[in-house]
Amino acid sequence: MKHHVLIVGAGFAGASVARVLAEAGHRCHIIDKRSHIGGNAYDHVDGAGVLIHPYGPHIFHTNSKRVFEFLSRFTDWRFYEHRVLAQVNGKLYPIPINRTTLNQLYGLNLTEEQAKEYLEKVREPRDTIRTSEDVVLNSVGKDLCEKFFRGYTRKQWGLDLSELSAGVAARIPTRTNDDDRYFTDTYQFMPAQGYGQMFRRMLDHPLISIELETDFAQVRDRFSGAHVVYTGPIDAYFNHCYGKLPYRSLRFEHEHLPDVPQFQAVGTVNYPNDHAYTRITEFKHLTGQTHTGTSIVREYPQAEGDPYYPIPRPENEALYKKYAELADKEETVTFIGRLAQYRYYNMDQVVAAALKAAEDLLARWNQE
Ligand code: FAD
Ligand code: UDP
Repeated sequence: MKHHVLIVGAGFAGASVARVLAEAGHRCHIIDKRSHIGGNAYDHVDGAGVLIHPYGPHIFHTNSKRVFEFLSRFTDWRFYEHRVLAQVNGKLYPIPINRTTLNQLYGLNLTEEQAKEYLEKVREPRDTIRTSEDVVLNSVGKDLCEKFFRGYTRKQWGLDLSELSAGVAARIPTRTNDDDRYFTDTYQFMPAQGYGQMFRRMLDHPLISIELETDFAQVRDRFSGAHVVYTGPIDAYFNHCYGKLPYRSLRFEHEHLPDVPQFQAVGTVNYPNDHAYTRITEFKHLTGQTHTGTSIVREYPQAEGDPYYPIPRPENEALYKKYAELADKEETVTFIGRLAQYRYYNMDQVVAAALKAAEDLLARWNQE
């Protein structure tokens, strides 16, 4: 039997599920309260003609062949390896911390072996790694923690490293070689014509229809018989019945600089200790676009506003679990994605979770 499916959210989660279900012959109606598809990964050309990411810089990277192959059906790719520098006391250093960071910061000339010994000497070994503070102190010790991590984390989350689960800081490795790439995944690419183009192609299927600027609440009754795939915040689905799940938000300050061919040496510069913003990203590095001017974005973290990040810490995870238990009981609703699963997912992890969810649904429907 073919199903009618209502998909709430046109980001990576919703679009991936829609494509798989449509290809299996199920009719998918996808709604989003925003005026565009792509969710937070959406991109568009700004007033000056530069391709920018309105919701902050999105760099695609994955180790999953399956995810990469799935998305490759809808886009060509541009090879791009992201590099980030962090400003500490007015100077720029590679982050993740590597041999170059140590040598430049402390005026040393360590070999790789010596860099290992150095970190061994300064790290503060922890028996159990519970918090992000444990992660950082255990790997690089106090001085590097204060210079590169404590201030950035306080700004980004409004919390101390010790108040966040280990997984947050564990996203950033420590290296003793000279590798200055932000990610080391097998596949690191940007969609050659942008994320918008990739999403348009993914959703271009006769069984997929799209309705923008439409909130779930408006259409819920219209689709009472349909299976729902919900990719918005899970607490909102249940009318915050257990209280609000905390999400961290950001304010993006976009700027175009006419007649400035290049603003900074790398895609992103982090400001762990200076300014109210955490980082500045210059889009032309990511996209490879040539233009006489350049466009940048500064990210100012804030508590209120659109939910961008789940906040990984034990009490939030406990509250999420209560919502997840309710979600389990909703047999005709599938909850998937960064907001619906309250997980600090990257894009590729969302696609992997969505592909799996779509397959599980198809298997279930096949048995009915
Ligand atoms: P979303 O993209 O949030 O999509 C959910 C959609 O649902 C939204 O469009 C929303 O409008 C819609 N919606 C919600 N509620 C309703 C409702 N009630 N009715 C109708 N529509 C609704 N990942 C990477 O891999 N690499 C990066 O470099 C990277 N950089 C990032 C930078 C920033 C600043 C942020 C915030 C995230 C970044 N990510 C990055 C993570 C990436 O954005 C997410 O993993 C991914 O976009 C999540 O997809 P999603 O479909 O789960 O959610
Ligand atoms: N982080 C930090 N200093 C840095 C970079 C990252 O303290 O220079 C910490 C901070 O807590 C941040 C987390 O590591 O929120 C994850 O960083 P990532 O760059 O992955 O964040 P995202 O791109 O998801 O915002």
